[in-house]
Amino acid sequence: MLYTSTQNNKESVSSAQAIAQGISRDGGLFVPETFPVYDGITFETLLGLDYRERAKKVLSDYLTDFTAEEIADCVDNAYTAEKFGSDNPAPIVSLNHNGAELNIMELWHGPTCAFKDMALQILPHLLTKSLKKTADGKKAVILVATSGDTGKAALEGFKDVENTEIIVFYPSDGVSPMQKHQMNTTSGNNVGVCAIKGNFDDAQTGVKKIFTTEEVIKALEDNGLMFSSANSINWGRLLPQIVYYISAYCDMVNAGKINLGDKINVVVPTGNFGNILAAYFAGCMGMPLNKLICASNSNNVLTDFINTGVYNKNRDFITTVSPSMDILVSSNLERLLYILSGRNDAETKEYMTALKTEGAYEVSDSIKTVVTELFSGGYCSEDETLDTISALYKDTAYLCDTHTAVAVNVYEKYLEATGDKTPAVIASTASPYKFSRAVLSAVEGKEITDEDEFAVVDKLTEVTGVAIPAPLEATRTMADRFSDVIEPDTMPEYVLGALGLK
Ligand SMILES: *Cc1c(COP(=O)(O)O)cnc(C)c1O
Repeated sequence: MLYTSTQNNKESVSSAQAIAQGISRDGGLFVPETFPVYDGITFETLLGLDYRERAKKVLSDYLTDFTAEEIADCVDNAYTAEKFGSDNPAPIVSLNHNGAELNIMELWHGPTCAFKDMALQILPHLLTKSLKKTADGKKAVILVATSGDTGKAALEGFKDVENTEIIVFYPSDGVSPMQKHQMNTTSGNNVGVCAIKGNFDDAQTGVKKIFTTEEVIKALEDNGLMFSSANSINWGRLLPQIVYYISAYCDMVNAGKINLGDKINVVVPTGNFGNILAAYFAGCMGMPLNKLICASNSNNVLTDFINTGVYNKNRDFITTVSPSMDILVSSNLERLLYILSGRNDAETKEYMTALKTEGAYEVSDSIKTVVTELFSGGYCSEDETLDTISALYKDTAYLCDTHTAVAVNVYEKYLEATGDKTPAVIASTASPYKFSRAVLSAVEGKEITDEDEFAVVDKLTEVTGVAIPAPLEATRTMADRFSDVIEPDTMPEYVLGALGLK
């Protein structure tokens, strides 16, 4: 299988090259030239397999330049019971709430307690193997822009991985105290963490700019280094996410909630559009899919896009209690537009250019039609997020985080508006303990004034009886290693300095 660029159909690279490079030289994103399609018989086989075996099947159909042994090595080292708490890293918890069944797929049992681990525990394995195939001897410099969760998950995935250096940039006031503490306490000799004065989009724009700054690229080349990306623009991030949707479908069949062949709805709390795009790709592969419900917080640029066909980032950036979704430029939407335009690279490039120059674009009528057929977009306010956590907890004793709450709220609104009885899988993207302050204030119905993060954590445990995940508890006594705060326009120099090239 080969991969092409959303902005240049003439580009054609192997999966190893797509993963090693991260982004296409023309600025486009890599997409598979075709999708493997699974029929009923293939799904029958998958039903009898565990998560790791399902992952091997899906990965081997996309990574055709990897051997079966290489794929097995990646999967078996990534999704261990030791790292994910059990042999199923993505268990589904079913709850009855307000007359509806919520099938909550918990994607946060990994080492950093957010769903990013599902991809970032395996990406270093995929990347080091890809580098060996395509760029022998070169060392990869991984640059990450993060709204909080990607940063820590990438640091944990890449720390002390041979032939890699990783530098993470996060918005200084745009992440939760726990996220900041998790990042700043990371061990490892190849890691760097730096705050920037700005929001997530500034960090993301800054990283994209470094990738194309000639002077920096040259300095790296001269020293046997190359850039790569651990952001969800990298195909190696998206692919492992397809697996858990296929696996969730199998689990729903095995649990007797659906029959093989029945359609499901999928609800995803969305920021950069990576997670929901993986669900869309699972649909392209034959997973029976009715609606993709795209849930946003007050940064509801995607809700407007799905409802009107106009993407317009010219609006205030709002800092919310679900910071990992505080994003106005959803990078992975580019891949959807490319596929829905009939793989039209020129049209995709036009939209992306308009986004860069005008901050907005309107898609064609044919794209609009498919988007409204397949997607439903909704958003929820800060109060609604907290009310949802509180109502769900009081009714079912289930404690969800602020991002998952956005998904639950938007799904409930969708049910009210449509009456759609299709069974739904809701992606739960983080442990409530990553956002203890907001979650505790929701449960207690009042503002939390304690200064110390772990005082809040302890109160949340005391009030709810829900245990804090071990990896978060482990950071309690760790001291911060990093404290740099810089202006976004000095990021290229910072990278050169951190790599000792200046
Ligand atoms: C990253 C993240 C999201 C958004 O996922 P995208 O793939 O960027 O759409 C939602 N919730 C949490 C907790 C996250 O860390």
